Amino acid sequence: MPSLQLTVLGSGTSMGVPTLGCQCGVCRSADPHDRRTRPSVLLSYGGREVLIDTTPDFRYQAMRHGLGRLDAILYTHGHADHILGLDDIRPFNLKQKGVVPIYASEETIQTLRRTFAYIFDDTPTASSLPGVEIHTLNGPLNLFGTEIVPVPAMHGPTRVMGFRFGKAAYLTDFSAVPESSKAMLRGLDDFVLDALRYTPHPMHSNVAQSLELVRELAPKRAWFTHICHDLGHAETNAKLPENVRLSYDELSFEVKV
Ligand SMILES: [Zn+2]
Ligand SMILES: [Zn+2]
Ligand SMILES: [Zn+2]
Repeated sequence: MPSLQLTVLGSGTSMGVPTLGCQCGVCRSADPHDRRTRPSVLLSYGGREVLIDTTPDFRYQAMRHGLGRLDAILYTHGHADHILGLDDIRPFNLKQKGVVPIYASEETIQTLRRTFAYIFDDTPTASSLPGVEIHTLNGPLNLFGTEIVPVPAMHGPTRVMGFRFGKAAYLTDFSAVPESSKAMLRGLDDFVLDALRYTPHPMHSNVAQSLELVRELAPKRAWFTHICHDLGHAETNAKLPENVRLSYDELSFEVKV
């Protein structure tokens, strides 16, 4: 059975953990699981490397992981913690002598064009620019022989894309999942999903809400991500059901596709 390797490159919320200026127990923790860079996952299969989101920590994440190439980028949405590392794909453009295809919703593409105007405005420059080829996400796509299914959800008032690939799915930054999308998230082995903290948040699912969604969709395993400094790794895991764990940077597992 074909498979891919999913690696959580970053498991932290938008500010990262430790959070700048904070002296709380989690931010001062000696447990490496409590060091969370901004949210991203990598799908590796057939010699291809497919990245979900380019966080402000992308360069560090790629170095830490030993990323040797970059074949495509899928974007969940256009918030800063998910896009700001785009400029750092340039070494892969140079090494691979080509552009990297990016897949995003129309509204995320608009945000990318606005945020990275220097990439897209065609002004002549002697500097190197990230080389990308834009594709609008409007349904399942076949990426290097693997089907990737976009799973729309709501992130406060904004739309976000989750992704399903075979027996796993990644859904970060959501506050509500429509029934039509829940149907795409059944029968999973592994579900990586947003669970920011215990306290409710208008833009994010919290621990109680994510546990409820896990109960409803019944994946074999669930991995919480986009985690803030309210949740210490070991102490939170001790309270969660056995099949639900906090993810952590560089967590990696195989997914049947
Ligand atoms: Zn985010
Ligand atoms: Zn803290
Ligand atoms: Zn967001």
